[in-house]
Amino acid sequence: MDMNRHEFQLDDLIERIKANDNRLVALQVPEGLKMQALEMMDSIEEDTSARIILAADPCYGACDLVHDKMQRMGVELVAHMGHSQMNIDSGMPTEFINVTYDGDPAIDPVLPILKHHRRIAEARLSRVADEHEMSEEDAKEAFMDAVGRISPLKGTKLGLVGSIQHLHLIFEYKERLEAVGYEVEVPVGGARLSFPGQVLGCNYSGDSDEIGHYLFLGSGDFHPIGLVLHTGKPLAMLDPYTGGAEEMSFERIERILRQRFGLIMSCDEAESFGILIGEKPGQMRRNLALRMKRKIEKHGKKGYLMALEHVGPELIDFYPVDAFVNTACPRIAIDDSVRYAKPLITPFELEVALGEKKWELGYKFDEIP
Ligand code: SF4
Repeated sequence: MDMNRHEFQLDDLIERIKANDNRLVALQVPEGLKMQALEMMDSIEEDTSARIILAADPCYGACDLVHDKMQRMGVELVAHMGHSQMNIDSGMPTEFINVTYDGDPAIDPVLPILKHHRRIAEARLSRVADEHEMSEEDAKEAFMDAVGRISPLKGTKLGLVGSIQHLHLIFEYKERLEAVGYEVEVPVGGARLSFPGQVLGCNYSGDSDEIGHYLFLGSGDFHPIGLVLHTGKPLAMLDPYTGGAEEMSFERIERILRQRFGLIMSCDEAESFGILIGEKPGQMRRNLALRMKRKIEKHGKKGYLMALEHVGPELIDFYPVDAFVNTACPRIAIDDSVRYAKPLITPFELEVALGEKKWELGYKFDEIP
């Protein structure tokens, strides 16, 4: 990744610090940009009379805003870099700093994948139209999406999404894809998302029945895995850092689903559960945790509520419970469960383990709205 091609838009922050005459400012930087943090601190201190404290704890999203702890240190303003505002109140004045990347890869490498995925979407849509001619069993099979749900489509549009540092290019890419014959929708999600086409690891709320397949503009498979688990739709990826294109394979999703089902099965005999509540402002789902406790108790088992800022195996594995239910960042259970000695499952997976929801009706991704 060429860091020099990232643009850090510090001007609004510097104006705000000057206007408010802030003296102590906390800078919060995502993990991938921490190497540049000291340079940014220098540049803000040179242009203002504020002193900057780096909030050096790990930070993976805007759900993890610096909150009242730093107020006790005398911090007046939080500068949060690389993520956008979400529907939470951290209790601290916060300036969100945009980071954009100027990588602008050609669409040619991704076109064969999109063509293949559009055919999958068209086939699914036409099966919906043929529904009345099919046996119930055939129809059920035909409508299954990648996560085993029966969810007939209403369209085959290409949904164009991206991670935040590439979203400034999203409408340019929409035009390029339309020029080669795709009907493109840039989905607009709910209150947790700030921009058209934005997705988070825990929120894909812009999805609609009109979208038959997706293109993700970004790198890594974190967002793509969540998007396919949430929507069940084929997904292509175009990486602005390398210009490379690939798809999120159904085999990969199947492997994840098999692992999830294995964890659910291993909770079959569990008698006691630790229920994790995230303390970070945008991960705190206390009501969901309380609901899970009631369900567990309804089935004659024990549930213990446990609040943590960070979740890790060294912090929970030693408790004498049989399994854990995670209501903090949903991706802790999905992406990291192999690191834990005991089963770590999502609330939906708990409901399946307790026999309240049916696995056969399809996987339900744990979304934070
Ligand atoms: S996926 Fe997890 S870390 Fe990312 S925004 Fe959602 S809750 Fe936060």
